[in-house]
Amino acid sequence: MNRTIGLLGGGQLGQMLCEAANPLGIKVVILDAENSPAKQVNAKAEHIAGSFVDSEKIRELARQVDVLTVEIEHVDTHVLEVIAEMGIEVTKKDGSKYYKKVEVQPSWRTIRTIQDKFIQKDHLLQHGIQVAYSTPATENTIAELQRIGKDLGYPFMLKARKDAYDGRGNFPVMSPPDIKKALEVLNGRELYAEKWAHFKMELAVMVVKTEDAQTTDSSSTISYPTVETIHEDSVCKIVYLPPRTIPKKIQQQAQALARKAVGSLWGKGVFGVELFLLDDGKLVVNEIAPRPHNSGHYTIEACPTMSQYKSQILSILGIMPPFPNNTIPAVVPSAIMLNILGGASKTSHDEVIRQSIAIPSAALHMYGKESKPGRKIGHITVVAPTLHEAETLISPLITLIGNIRA
Ligand code: ADP
Ligand code: MG
Repeated sequence: MNRTIGLLGGGQLGQMLCEAANPLGIKVVILDAENSPAKQVNAKAEHIAGSFVDSEKIRELARQVDVLTVEIEHVDTHVLEVIAEMGIEVTKKDGSKYYKKVEVQPSWRTIRTIQDKFIQKDHLLQHGIQVAYSTPATENTIAELQRIGKDLGYPFMLKARKDAYDGRGNFPVMSPPDIKKALEVLNGRELYAEKWAHFKMELAVMVVKTEDAQTTDSSSTISYPTVETIHEDSVCKIVYLPPRTIPKKIQQQAQALARKAVGSLWGKGVFGVELFLLDDGKLVVNEIAPRPHNSGHYTIEACPTMSQYKSQILSILGIMPPFPNNTIPAVVPSAIMLNILGGASKTSHDEVIRQSIAIPSAALHMYGKESKPGRKIGHITVVAPTLHEAETLISPLITLIGNIRA
């Protein structure tokens, strides 16, 4: 409980992590730009201004803390590996030096495996977890992508292997003439291609891992409920708890698959598992995030005593309590989360804020970020006794957000 957490990245996920850490009396030191969203809710002199990809800054952070964790997977895992394996050199007041032990949670090995999406998919396949069929592009040329198109068929999804988020890194190649544009958009990045997943629904499950070792029996993984996610142009837009039309059995299968997938990784923490429920009824994993996730924001209101952020804190510190059946239940029957994306002008979303505040069962979370077109700047979660009632409450806001879309 007295250990300090060092956080790489201070965006909205870090902000909500700090909001969960504050009432627990747990100190979080952040490495990110001055005035980043997480720093705005966590006034500490020790914060470090700089980039979470700068290895020297990561070392500076490590010197001050006991456990390092991430709110983003696009970090320098080599420096994390050295810190986790050897500790960090600290100079005492008398000039002598010693190596201080610092944990990295989840493991650098997990972050490294996940940050290259192609390696991540290969890892999952090797652990018996189905994913969309993927193939690397050996070079970024039209001929190579035509070869891939013949192999996978059209449409296929071209993806950047690294540094991809919120759809920035994906290009749907609908037919051969799209290849040129795809190469222009994803110019200079290492690429791979995925067979198009024809899905009925996208699902997501947050999973907490409580032991360092990989596990095959799911004993050290705890899952949140299965939710339905709606993406628009590859960006998450709405999350439904529970999913709208699928039976309980599939929701449980999704939880089991998500726990198995997270069990194949190393270290402790909270993970977001994105899944496709295919037209033929099969479930496959789309991807895993080694951190809190947009699809888990609803837990702040639906699991108020154990949100995904509190779980991240408790699990990385090794003090996560046990849950019956290894599941964390929602205490409300239904919830809908809606992302607020920046519109054409900086004030486009003002009316969204006004209308959200007017709904008593809606929780508004603005992240303190500058509004830019398409940027995630906040979200709203509505809770209700039935999904139908939640839909009725949130539907004017969905329309409004659709209208301000840049
Ligand atoms: P990001 O890192 O941006 O979240 P994802 O790989 O999860 O990227 O893709 C974002 C969205 O794009 C998915 O949630 C899904 O809607 C769509 N998508 C991704 N891969 C495929 C695929 N193979 N087939 C069809 N749609 C896909
Ligand atoms: Mg995704």
